Amino acid sequence: MSKREFQTEVSQLLQLIIHSLYSHPEIFLRELISNSSDALDKLRHLTLVDDTYKALPFTPRIDLELDEEKGTLTIADTGIGMNEEDLVSHLGTIARSGTKNFLAQLSGDAKKDSNLIGQFGVGFYSAFMVADRIEVVSRKAGEEQAWRWVSDGKTGFEIEPAERSVAGTTILLHFNEEGKQYANSWRLREIVKKYSNHIAFPIFLTYDKSEWNEAEKKSEKVRTTEQVNAASALWRRPKNELTDEDYKELYKSISGDSQDPLFWFHTRAEGTLDYTTLFYIPAKAPLDLYQAEYKVGVKLYVKRVFIMDDARELLPQYLRFVRGIIDSEDLPLNVSREILQQNRVLTSIRTASVKKILSELKNVASSQPEKYLEFITQYNRPLKEGLYSDYANRETLLDLIRFKTTKADGLTSLAEIKSRMKEGQKSIYYITGGSESLLRTSPLLEIYKKKDLEVLILDDDVDEIVFSGVDKYGDIDLKAVNKASTGDDLKDEAEPETDKAEALKPLLDKLKATLGDRVKDVRASVRLADSPSCIVSDEDDPSLQMQQMLRAMGQ
Ligand code: ADP
Ligand code: MG
Repeated sequence: MSKREFQTEVSQLLQLIIHSLYSHPEIFLRELISNSSDALDKLRHLTLVDDTYKALPFTPRIDLELDEEKGTLTIADTGIGMNEEDLVSHLGTIARSGTKNFLAQLSGDAKKDSNLIGQFGVGFYSAFMVADRIEVVSRKAGEEQAWRWVSDGKTGFEIEPAERSVAGTTILLHFNEEGKQYANSWRLREIVKKYSNHIAFPIFLTYDKSEWNEAEKKSEKVRTTEQVNAASALWRRPKNELTDEDYKELYKSISGDSQDPLFWFHTRAEGTLDYTTLFYIPAKAPLDLYQAEYKVGVKLYVKRVFIMDDARELLPQYLRFVRGIIDSEDLPLNVSREILQQNRVLTSIRTASVKKILSELKNVASSQPEKYLEFITQYNRPLKEGLYSDYANRETLLDLIRFKTTKADGLTSLAEIKSRMKEGQKSIYYITGGSESLLRTSPLLEIYKKKDLEVLILDDDVDEIVFSGVDKYGDIDLKAVNKASTGDDLKDEAEPETDKAEALKPLLDKLKATLGDRVKDVRASVRLADSPSCIVSDEDDPSLQMQQMLRAMGQ
């Protein structure tokens, strides 16, 4: 038997998991079952596409076996399994770099933190919340030798050869004080239903059932095995057979989120292409939304067979907060990542899915404004990224995005702002380049205030870059106030009268000489009402903020 130490990050993580997720430990079962389900998906996929696995016996199932007396539970699957190397690397190190972010984001609030755990893929270790000893016996499909991995979750683990009759993984938990409450068949059934009801494989529970023995007039224990989940690809059932509860349950089981989603869009397309999509919008933006390593939220299935859950091609990046399922009838089962990138079928599904999501969002905006507000407070910023990257849907995105403005509290749509435009007004104006309070008090706004023109306050860090590329909303020009040319609506005031300009010339020359290379020009302007001076950019030059941002991006 060989003894190994955990990677430092693993020990650190275990400490945090055990101590901070204390009040929500039942998720350990969801995590272990989802690992089993992943392992079954992987093997099923291989048996369908790879000749070396086609001949292997494969009866996909997950078995929970409870021993109340000993206080143990096993979770066994007939999935892909792990060999010695896999056990060491999967259950002893943290490969995912996102996990470092996980460590940084733990808040100490047990409820919030337990939500994080599913998102960052530290799932397996959560079992140490309820067990003081875990034994994993696993045999990899296609290999003869099985291996046993044993750990107390403290310093490290031991690994040794073992036996297992078929490929798969068995996880034996020795419950600790905290875990004892789960050595109960009712409790286990309840947790499986709550989190794992729609796992595509049957989950069986074996336990000692109390039965009344009429002859002996007493109850006795009978070892019983029952299936405890529905095990159906729910998204393939017709909408009218599904309840809100069904949808919410499926969402929780695929997303790892414990909150209900804000809303969902379920579509079945038939015709040139056959596919089903079910998209969910999480109530709260995923915590890794702004990380380059964000976890993909949409799973790809082909004819109900799971294919992959980390394909960034399924939806454009700006919709990375969407969770759900794409199930296609037309893709080949052995579709690879490389094929996906330029696959005609997937491109069509993706284009249609984006259109669908955006148009459904538009429906929500008009039919349920309050719901929409909840949505937009979470996702305004990723939608803005879409303005930059999704030219084809720019008009729709402009209608979906909401804005702060000088004329209203809260958030306003461009349609509303358009309807408030003054008689004869030609453009909609916006200001970028700082915090909201800085922008609202900017001297650049003085003239607009004076002329009663509404100005959008764009204070997101992406606004500068995004909106410099958007020059129209429908047939109306969008114009930045911090550019030298002020737009038609101010034209009558853009140039000071000639005699005043003459009078100011000596002063301007002196200022220019003093400032030297630091400025391009010093001009007289009437755009200020109360302040003596301000800095603006030339029409075609990047603004100050943008120059800083481009520098930060290494441009
Ligand atoms: P994640 O599932 O997000 O990758 P986990 O901590 O839950 O993170 O699991 C770590 C890894 O251990 C998995 O990615 C998988 O490779 C392996 N693993 C865990 N459980 C099983 C299992 N039952 N069968 C096969 N591999 C497993
Ligand atoms: Mg997992």
